[in-house]
Amino acid sequence: MGGSPSLSKRAQEVTASATMEITNRANELRAAGAHVIGFGAGEPDFPTPQHIVDAAVEAARDPQSHRYSPAAGLPALREAVAAKTLRDAGLDIDAGQVVITNGGKHAVYAACQVAIDPGDEVLLPSPYWVTYPEVIALAGGTPVVIPTDDTSGFRTSVDQLEAARTERTKALIFVSPSNPTGAVYAADEVRAIGEWAVEHGIWVITDEIYEHLVYGDVPFTSLPAAVPAAAANTVIVNGVAKTYAMTGWRVGWLIGTPEVAGAAARLQSHTTSNVANVSQRAALAAVTGPLDDVASMRAAFDRRRRKMYTMLNEVEGVECLEPEGAFYAFPQMTGMLNRSLDGAFAATTMELAGVLLDKIQIAIVPGEPFGAPGYARFSFALGDEDLEEGLQRLIDLAAR
Ligand code: PMP
Repeated sequence: MGGSPSLSKRAQEVTASATMEITNRANELRAAGAHVIGFGAGEPDFPTPQHIVDAAVEAARDPQSHRYSPAAGLPALREAVAAKTLRDAGLDIDAGQVVITNGGKHAVYAACQVAIDPGDEVLLPSPYWVTYPEVIALAGGTPVVIPTDDTSGFRTSVDQLEAARTERTKALIFVSPSNPTGAVYAADEVRAIGEWAVEHGIWVITDEIYEHLVYGDVPFTSLPAAVPAAAANTVIVNGVAKTYAMTGWRVGWLIGTPEVAGAAARLQSHTTSNVANVSQRAALAAVTGPLDDVASMRAAFDRRRRKMYTMLNEVEGVECLEPEGAFYAFPQMTGMLNRSLDGAFAATTMELAGVLLDKIQIAIVPGEPFGAPGYARFSFALGDEDLEEGLQRLIDLAAR
C-alpha cells in the first residue's frame, strides 16, 4: 500500500528545543495583550553595534558578496579569528585551523560529526545546554551524563570524569562560562581536565562562546591554552553571537587541528557551503574592531546579574548561587514545589514554569530539559525594569 512513508528514526528522535517552546508560548500570551516578562532569552537584548552593521551594509553593496565563497570561510575572516584567538584566549593558531560555520551551534554539530562515530560515548556534564545531547545523538554517539549540582558550583571534576570513562569514551563536551548555569571553571580545574583528556586520548569539544561574559574573580580560561598538549585533542567552538549581540547574523567557527578543520570544511562543502558573505563581513568587523561595546554590554549584564542574584534569594523557597559568567542564573526551586501558589500547585519545575506563566506572567525555562529537575534557568538578558518587576512578582507570589 502507498501512503506517506515514515520519517527517519533520526528525525523522529530529535526533540524540539525547549527553550524555543517557552519563548513561543510567552509570545502568544503577549500577542493576546498580557505583559509577559521573559526570562527565557538566550540572546543579548542589545542591537548589534553600529560599526558592525555599517560593515554589513557596505558588504551588501559589494558584488563580491553576491557570489559563492570558500566553504571554510572568507580567508580574511579566518585570519582575523586566528588573531582574535591569540588576543582573547592566548592561543597561537593558524588560519587554516579555523572553519567559519552557521553560528556556534553549527560548529558544535560539525565538531560532533567530525569526532564521533556510532557507538561512541560522549561525556556530558549536566546541567547541559539542550542542544548538546541532540547533536551527540545525531552523530550516532551516546551521551553519558555526568551530574553536577549547586554543591559543586555546577562544575565537574576529573574524579567524576574518570569514574565515567570506559574504553568507548571518545569525547567530552566542556563549556565555561556555562549555559545554563553561569558557572566558570578556575584555571587549575580547566588544566586538570585538559591533562586528563590528553592522558586518555579523548576529544574535548570546548565551547567558548561566552568567553567575554565573565563577572567575578574567576577569569575565562581556554582549555588548549592552559594545556598546550591538548591542542591535538581539542575542538574549540566559538562565535560572534553572544559577545557582539549578533545572534541573528549566524556566524560562528570551530578551531581544531588541520585534519579536523579539513574534515569540517569538506562536510560543510556538501551541506551548507559558505556562510552568508554579508554576515561574514559583519563578523570580520566585529572581531577586528574595538571591544568598547562589549565592555558596556558586559557592565549592563553585570548590574542585572547582581540584582537578579539578590532578588532570587529573596524568594521564599528559592536558593541561587551567584552566576559568574554568561547571562543566566540557575536557582534551585524545589522549595516552591508542592505548595499553594495562589491556589495552584506544581509538583515539578516543568509544571512550575507553566504556573508562573499563568499566575504572574513570567517566562522561565525549567531545569528538566537541561537534565536538572528542581532548578530553572533565568536569563538576565532583559531590561532592568522588567527584570526587577518580574522578580518582584515572583517574590510576592511566593510570600502570598
Ligand atoms: N553554545 C552555547 C553554550 C550557547 O548557549 C549557544 C547559544 N544558545 C551557542 C553555543 C550557539 O550560539 P549561535 O549558534 O547563536 O552562535
